[in-house]
Amino acid sequence: FNNELQRSEKMEIISELAASVAHEVRNPLQVTRGFLQLLSEKNSSSNQLYLNMALDELDRAALIITDFLTFAKPEAGKVTTLNVLEEFIHIEGILMPLVNLQGGKITVHIPSDLHIRGSSSKFKQAFINIIKNSIEALDGEGEIDIWAHGDDGKVCIYIKDNGEGMEPEVLARLGEPYFSNKTKGTGLGLMVTFRIIEVMQGNISFTSTKGVGTEVCVSFPSVII
Ligand code: ADP
Ligand code: MG
Repeated sequence: FNNELQRSEKMEIISELAASVAHEVRNPLQVTRGFLQLLSEKNSSSNQLYLNMALDELDRAALIITDFLTFAKPEAGKVTTLNVLEEFIHIEGILMPLVNLQGGKITVHIPSDLHIRGSSSKFKQAFINIIKNSIEALDGEGEIDIWAHGDDGKVCIYIKDNGEGMEPEVLARLGEPYFSNKTKGTGLGLMVTFRIIEVMQGNISFTSTKGVGTEVCVSFPSVII
């Protein structure tokens, strides 16, 4: 009972934190957008093009923040039966430009008959955050392997990279709000992922060796259809 109480208090704190982060980041974006809008009304020809591009990028950034922090309301996002392979086809499509930019390669081997219950957007959010970290950990000709199988009432999903890997001290702190080792990191990605997986009654574990790579194992209760 005690444990449960502590847990829900912790979740409430995380939700509040997320809402305040979203608020803080959206404000300067909106102010900048307002200034650009004013400029675009006064300027002409080629400047217009750049200003419009800047406005589009700002709108996109605001959208990403909104998506990133939707977990602040865990009840949002319609729960359906998800086909794991179909979800990963979407995820791969979203991440492909980023992988190409890093000079890496993704391979996906997932059978077409694996199903779980959950919200499609949250599922994608959770795995995009995991795989983005793998992509960011790659150096040059990196490889990310994604595979999955059914196992005794569970669906197990694996994401393995041959990136920089982590020291045990880093592993122990994964999911902590604002814990990041990147110059442009938010330190919110895995916090979001852990929360989503928890709501979906799943499990996540990391195995990593510094200089070798990282393997993430995520499991969910499977659905037979
Ligand atoms: P961010 O990516 O913004 O830093 P995350 O919560 O996504 O925040 O990740 C926290 C930290 O965990 C990262 O800064 C990185 O040091 C470490 N990490 C997570 N996944 C990996 C991985 N696949 N390989 C190496 N380091 C990782
Ligand atoms: Mg991240």
